[in-house]
Amino acid sequence: MDKPKIGVFKFTGCAGCQMAIIHLEERLLDIFGGVEIRYFKMATSRNPGGPYDISLIEGSVSTPKEIKEIKEIRKNSRYLVALGTCAVYGGVQAMRNPFKEIDVEKKVYEKPEYIMSLESKGIDEYVDVDGYIYGCPINVEEAVFLIKSLLLGFQPYYPEYSVCVECKMKGNECLLLKRGEKCIGPITRGGCDAICTTNKFPCQGCRGPLYGTNIDGLFQKLSKMGIDREEVINIMRKYVNEVYLRGEVAR
Ligand code: SF4
Ligand code: SF4
Ligand code: SF4
Repeated sequence: MDKPKIGVFKFTGCAGCQMAIIHLEERLLDIFGGVEIRYFKMATSRNPGGPYDISLIEGSVSTPKEIKEIKEIRKNSRYLVALGTCAVYGGVQAMRNPFKEIDVEKKVYEKPEYIMSLESKGIDEYVDVDGYIYGCPINVEEAVFLIKSLLLGFQPYYPEYSVCVECKMKGNECLLLKRGEKCIGPITRGGCDAICTTNKFPCQGCRGPLYGTNIDGLFQKLSKMGIDREEVINIMRKYVNEVYLRGEVAR
């Protein structure tokens, strides 16, 4: 039987999610032994191309060329997966979205007239997406689990609980309640094993918002600490394009 064909593509991002996969080194061979890598420029010079059973897209869409490319890859793929926060939510580079493109470009480039950038958006703004792998960078085990689920025809599983749940399960002292730190773990999708809070850094929301949580409760608590709603939303904007901060978060 033919092995499933996989493509890994880079759009606008730091390449950290692809690096997370490559850093598995020997384990990568075990994990990907059951598939055929048809495109993964960062890992191999042999890239025969599609069609693909699964295409993993790292990075956001932020240029007209990338819009064309993502549509092309979609046509060539049975399943399309957003790999990491940039591809899911627009990523760190979406922080520029509220500003006029030309103003941002002038700050960075000597000749902005050569730059063709758009707002940074997650790939599902342009194409249908079959699976999401959250995190900046991704948790590779989650990526492998999602790939297996798609190939076996199972509904992908996503953690529907906040970072607080994993943080409590680790027995951590709460940075928000006990130390008064700006931790947005209560409204952030879990699945990272609370890696930051376990290491005494408040959660910055890199896995994006978990909808249906007690957001008002968090805002009230933070407001008593002198931190207003806008400041919390600004923390979320570090990773998440505004369009994904739905009414309940951003109202
Ligand atoms: S999600 Fe984070 S680690 Fe992955 S490409 Fe984007 S910025 Fe880099
Ligand atoms: S430290 Fe943050 S993530 Fe952990 S329990 Fe407190 S609020 Fe939740
Ligand atoms: S604790 Fe928060 S910022 Fe850290 S990895 Fe998890 S979701 Fe991301």
